[in-house]
Amino acid sequence: MNEIIGELLPPARLMMTPGPSCMDPRVYRAMSAPLVGHMDPWFIEMMNDVQVLLRRVFQTKNRVTYPVSASGSGGIEAAVLNPLEEGDECIVCVNGMFSERMAVIAERSPAKVIRVEGELGRTVDPEDVRRAGKGKKIKFVGLAQGETSTGVVQRLENYRKVADELGALLIVDTVASLAGIPLNVDREGIDICFSGTQKAISAPPGMAPITINSRVEDLIRARKTPVESWYFDFTPIMTMWGSERTYHHTPPVSLIYGLREALRIVLEEGLETRWERHLRNQQALIAGIEAMGLELFVSNPADRLVTVTAVKIPSGLEDGKVRQQLLNEFNLEIAGGIGKTKGKIWRVGLMGYSSQNTNVLLFLAALEKVMLDQGRHVPAGAGVAAAIRSYQGTAQPVAVGARK
Ligand SMILES: *Cc1c(COP(=O)(O)O)cnc(C)c1O
Repeated sequence: MNEIIGELLPPARLMMTPGPSCMDPRVYRAMSAPLVGHMDPWFIEMMNDVQVLLRRVFQTKNRVTYPVSASGSGGIEAAVLNPLEEGDECIVCVNGMFSERMAVIAERSPAKVIRVEGELGRTVDPEDVRRAGKGKKIKFVGLAQGETSTGVVQRLENYRKVADELGALLIVDTVASLAGIPLNVDREGIDICFSGTQKAISAPPGMAPITINSRVEDLIRARKTPVESWYFDFTPIMTMWGSERTYHHTPPVSLIYGLREALRIVLEEGLETRWERHLRNQQALIAGIEAMGLELFVSNPADRLVTVTAVKIPSGLEDGKVRQQLLNEFNLEIAGGIGKTKGKIWRVGLMGYSSQNTNVLLFLAALEKVMLDQGRHVPAGAGVAAAIRSYQGTAQPVAVGARK
């Protein structure tokens, strides 16, 4: 009954999942700084800095740019519920579990939701969006830049074009992509853009950075009914700045410290350099995976999300057993499929601090051992060798056009 629960001693894992990613020691240190009250002038100044940092990472001048106190899913909820009112119609591009979550959340609002579906492992055809919205008054077109459940990236300009034709806002989920692949909120004309902290930003989970432009601010001010969520309503945040700050909810102060340091690290490295690092590491990973005789789930190389690589599980291997051995023997965590891809794919995340060449090489070597132990032949050292060649820049271009 009264047995003593031991001290907290988490294992030191290498997280090569689609989040959370590993964190730089600087972020842990920042999180252990003393708590300060959220109404303290020092905290308010600190939050201003966080906003400045977030604007630089999102590449926006938007006034309303801040971390929502919730995980990435809370970011979806905030983004979707604020513009929608009774009688509205919106379009959500669904090509996997996370983009579907946007549709599911929108369907809880009083608005009508049109789902435009794309096959798993592929992008949603902007032409289908155009057709679905034709002749209708569409409030927004929503999509995920990076669909984490399958490792698919979508280029934003075509959806922006369709949204313009429909007179609709563009809402983009960049939870799995911000700070890992190119994104420029202002240049790409995204009206509401949100992300998560635990992926390519490599901050602790639990916050959803979001940015909204003045068009969205105006639209929210013109609402006839209050937003269907008290917690995620942008209105108090919109009115708070420029005037006296008032209490709305207690923000996760220590997490925000961590986010601040993680954003500083992102900008010290530089966005371009960081995108380049993510790309280089994924290319080496892909070279290694293919040299081991494994296949990627996303067949079109142009559709592959740089931060999450989906690998088809080869026959004769058991999903759970492989991941278990990687965890037990190498302290290395990768993810399985979710939803319809469960048991069919592994998802290897190379995000933020986890995206390092040493991790790629370790993973390929570890996977080789696990596959051999579990009775599957792999050409000795082929994965690591191919990755090394990729880093040396002497490998053939990775699978470009090799498969359709
Ligand atoms: C991880 C993820 C989410 C959900 O984030 P949580 O922090 O788990 O709530 C939403 N969208 C995308 C694209 C994601 O990768």
